[in-house]
Amino acid sequence: MGINKIQFQKGLSMAEFMESYGTEDKCHAALVASRWPAGFVCPKCGDTHHSTFERKGLQYWQCSICREQTTAICGTIFQATKLPLTRWFLGMHLLSQSKNSISALELKRHLGVRYKTAWLLKHKLMQVMTLREESRQLDGRVEVDDAYLGGELPGGKSGRGSENKTSFVAAVQTTETGHPLFVCLTKLEFTKDAIAKWAKVSLCASANVVSDGLWCFRAVTESGATHDRNVTGGGPACVKLEKFRAVNTLLGNLKTSLSGTYHAFDFSKYAHRYLAEFQYRFNRRFDLSVILVRLLRASALTAPHPEHFIRTAEHCG
Ligand SMILES: [Zn+2]
Repeated sequence: MGINKIQFQKGLSMAEFMESYGTEDKCHAALVASRWPAGFVCPKCGDTHHSTFERKGLQYWQCSICREQTTAICGTIFQATKLPLTRWFLGMHLLSQSKNSISALELKRHLGVRYKTAWLLKHKLMQVMTLREESRQLDGRVEVDDAYLGGELPGGKSGRGSENKTSFVAAVQTTETGHPLFVCLTKLEFTKDAIAKWAKVSLCASANVVSDGLWCFRAVTESGATHDRNVTGGGPACVKLEKFRAVNTLLGNLKTSLSGTYHAFDFSKYAHRYLAEFQYRFNRRFDLSVILVRLLRASALTAPHPEHFIRTAEHCG
């Protein structure tokens, strides 16, 4: 799909969204269908025989074999939420349809909730995206570059070696002619060991990596990938630029997308999630009309993540 077709594709309009997910009942039905597409399955024993009942306005399923009682949100990322599902669905819609990322502050306004609530909702959904993208592997022609974001201080150095920045590897799988297909953004320190470990997780053995002269990128071959190293200053600038067009464009878009959507402190602490959110949307940009359905399914299949887990930085990246 060409770039214009991506930008001008239909997506899911707000009118269509309200039609499908405008009430609590519709959201509940959509969550149930997404979680149990072939009918109820007991989360404890896996049996399908069950009865249902209502308590305090909530629908419960009770397993006929082990007697486990469960609700639609129990055991999912939505577990223990005090928010109506309509808020969650609107949050998922805004997060997945917006061209650039949406800040917790903007979400707060759209959802009519407190900032803290909007922040937690956004980070829980970003955690879902992070887990979905963890197994992403790039193949074929892959442009890689070292990148740095966040924590700008007046007078600080820019680029490599700058202080207070989060370093991450940006990798873009392209067609043979350089059109971007998929992206992988991973927070790491630029050492040979970290790159070797990253390559084994994120690259197929048949990948052909195109990198600049940063010495540690030589370690990508430990994944079995081949490596085309282009030493900075070693050739005409236009040739070099052409070789890295996809990754340079991507990094420009990433910076635009993230600017204004996070606090600098938040970014350095939760960079893995902000990067995964961008990656998730980018890798699904070909079909915006079903991205919400896919995010809902992923959310229904993601185990609960309590607030203290979400607020601890070290789990990923
Ligand atoms: Zn059971």
